[in-house]
Amino acid sequence: MCLFGVFDGAINEAYLVFGKEKLHHLLRPICIIVVGEIVVDVNLFQVEEDGVVQQVVSLINDLANVILEPGEDQWNCTLGNRGEYSVGALRHKFEEQLNQYRSLPSFNWNKVSPIKVNCFIWRVIQNKIPSAIALKSRGMETVNTTCSACISGLECGDHVLISCPYACTIREKIFDWCGVQHRAFQSVNELILFMESWGSCSRLRQRFMTICHSLLWNIWKLRNDQIFNGIFLNPIRGAEEVKSLAFYWHKHRDKNWSSNWEEWSTSPFDVS
Ligand SMILES: [Zn+2]
Repeated sequence: MCLFGVFDGAINEAYLVFGKEKLHHLLRPICIIVVGEIVVDVNLFQVEEDGVVQQVVSLINDLANVILEPGEDQWNCTLGNRGEYSVGALRHKFEEQLNQYRSLPSFNWNKVSPIKVNCFIWRVIQNKIPSAIALKSRGMETVNTTCSACISGLECGDHVLISCPYACTIREKIFDWCGVQHRAFQSVNELILFMESWGSCSRLRQRFMTICHSLLWNIWKLRNDQIFNGIFLNPIRGAEEVKSLAFYWHKHRDKNWSSNWEEWSTSPFDVS
């Protein structure tokens, strides 16, 4: 049940209207008091009459301190600090809500990797790449959800890029080439966290990140070639693709780059 009161005069009248007699038969009364241009919506709970009256008295006391400013009404968005709506502020709000249930590694843009590769890595971190399992979970009909490389594991992002024996072999060859000790990663995000904190030199860390970007990008590309074009590349050739693409990115996108392929193919961290 609802009770509405509209007042243009003294707000003390509210107490008179919502007195004991008026509220006596109401189980869940709600009153909306309009004082000047201010609208206050008050939930009067299922409480004793005296409690309800006390709330109204408190409301009247609160409203007594309200001073209306002259001028037009304005809308303020509470998403940001400036009171203005923006898509970015809304996106941050969504991310806040989503991320409170899962912790994701932060995404750092690598300017040596192309934009499309950075976007791919960002989607990988969010677990948003279109693997067979991901597509099925979104309601799409998929003929097969097993991995096309090992024909045993379910084809989710972590399997394709990390735990599949095919991906493991390529990664081991790349880590050997880099002189980095093998690690048993369980997920893509573990690899991302590892590369983001690897070493103490920021310049070499960026190079290692570029190599890891090339690794993930190439494994996904090789997976697509196999599924959609029927082309299978053995892991040794796959590792060579990773090296050459990372070299190509550095050569054309790194303004401080002065190395050649012979030096790079021997060791990526002994070059200038
Ligand atoms: Zn597999």
